[in-house]
Amino acid sequence: MDTRVKGTLTEGLHQLARENVDPADLLDPDEVKLRSENGPWVMPDCENCTDRCCVHKDVGSGILLSLQDVAALVDSGLGDKIVGRFTFKRSRKGKLLAEIDQMPRLAKRQGNCVFYDAESGLCGGYGTRPTICRRFPFEVDYRKKSKKPFARFIPWTACTKKQGRENEPAIRQMARDAVVDENVSLEDAMLLPDHHEELRRIGFERFLPPPEECP
Ligand code: SF4
Ligand code: SF4
Repeated sequence: MDTRVKGTLTEGLHQLARENVDPADLLDPDEVKLRSENGPWVMPDCENCTDRCCVHKDVGSGILLSLQDVAALVDSGLGDKIVGRFTFKRSRKGKLLAEIDQMPRLAKRQGNCVFYDAESGLCGGYGTRPTICRRFPFEVDYRKKSKKPFARFIPWTACTKKQGRENEPAIRQMARDAVVDENVSLEDAMLLPDHHEELRRIGFERFLPPPEECP
């Protein structure tokens, strides 16, 4: 469950989404099937993990932030931990497209996520951690032909794993969280290209490209 602080920016974003996003265009967590690509009832074993996902070995990596993540961090007084902004893709001919290119990220400290406490190996901002951290290492993907969505434990992660039927409730919860996360991304894809002016007005100015670089 998302227990992050809900202040002015979060409320403004929810209002904008209520007015402009049709719930029928979002995924129903009860309808998205779970696919067990790592084997039955396999889940991440974070307590015994030796390769924590908060340690960023790749310099280009970083935790991408949705509009909701940005709003929650700003509402919690942690806006200074956000770097970068949303940008839009351009066609080969230079025309701005209604597709998100770059996203804001959490800042880094000594190469790792700014919230990562290297001594304890824990997240120092657990209550305000972004959506992607809440659902990782689960995600929603789409079948190639039918485009039907499914949830899965991402097969290529470096996670330490554990297996057992007793993991079922936790796995089902992570799969649901992945669907909620996918809906956050779908909502961003609907709001950012068409409603950047309203987003600017409610307080997202710093995280958007200038008007001339919006579609
Ligand atoms: S890499 Fe996987 S197992 Fe390790 S801390 Fe992250 S989610 Fe948990
Ligand atoms: S916010 Fe917390 S859980 Fe997410 S990468 Fe940073 S330290 Fe890890």
